[in-house]
Amino acid sequence: MAQLEIPQERILVVEDEKALASVVASYLRRAGYDVTLEYTGPDAVTVARTLAPDVIVLDLGLPGLDGIEVCRQVRTFSDCYILMLTARGDEVDKLIGLSVGADDYITKPFSTRELVARVQTVLRRPRRPAAAAAEVDLEPPRVFGDLRVDAAGREVWLSDEPVQLTRTEFDILDVLSGQPKVALSRRQIIDQVWDVDWLGDDHVVDVHVANLRRKLGDDPNEPRYVLTVRGVGYRMGKG
Ligand code: CA
Repeated sequence: MAQLEIPQERILVVEDEKALASVVASYLRRAGYDVTLEYTGPDAVTVARTLAPDVIVLDLGLPGLDGIEVCRQVRTFSDCYILMLTARGDEVDKLIGLSVGADDYITKPFSTRELVARVQTVLRRPRRPAAAAAEVDLEPPRVFGDLRVDAAGREVWLSDEPVQLTRTEFDILDVLSGQPKVALSRRQIIDQVWDVDWLGDDHVVDVHVANLRRKLGDDPNEPRYVLTVRGVGYRMGKG
C-alpha cells in the first residue's frame, strides 16, 4: 500500500493535560493521521503556522495564551478546521470560541472515539458538498448584488475584493447561496454542512452566521445577504 502515497492529513492537538493529550494523539494516529502535539498556546500558534494542519484540536484552558486567543491568532493565517475542547457548562466560552473562528466544540469529558469520529467526519467532508460537485464545476459564480460566490473555486468576492472565510463559514454560505429562494432551518443547515449525526446545539449556526455577516459587511439588523427568516432560520438575500 505504500506506493499509493496518500498524503496523511495533519492534525495538531493542543492540550496541556499531557495524559489526555497523548491518549487523543494515539487514537488519532491509529486512525491514520499525522499527529503533532503541543502543550502551550504560544507553541500552538507557532506550530500551526509552520505545520499547516488540516485540523486543530484545541483545548481552551492553556498556559501562555488561552485557546480563544490561539484561535483568534491562527485565524489570521489559516482556515483549517478548529475543534475546541471545552469544559462542561462553559457556554460562554463555547460561544466566544465560535465567534473567534472555531468550527465546532466537544465538551469534556468526551469519549476519544467520539472525538476521532468528529475529525473523520470533517476530513471526509468534501471541500464542497459532493452531490453538487459535478454541476458546480460548470456553474457560473452566484451573484447577489456586490457579493459573488464561486462554489467551484470556494472563493467569495465582495465588490471585487476577496473575502477570507473559514471552512464552515464558506460551507454555510454555499448551502444558502445554492438554494437562494429557500428558507433553511438551522437543523437543515447543520445536516448539509456538518453531518446528520451531529449532536451539537443549533445555536452554533447563529454564531457562524454572525461571523459570516461581519465578514460580508452585513448589518445584522438589516442584512442584505444572509437574511433571518423568523421562526425558520436563514435565507439568502438578493444583496
Ligand atoms: Ca487544559
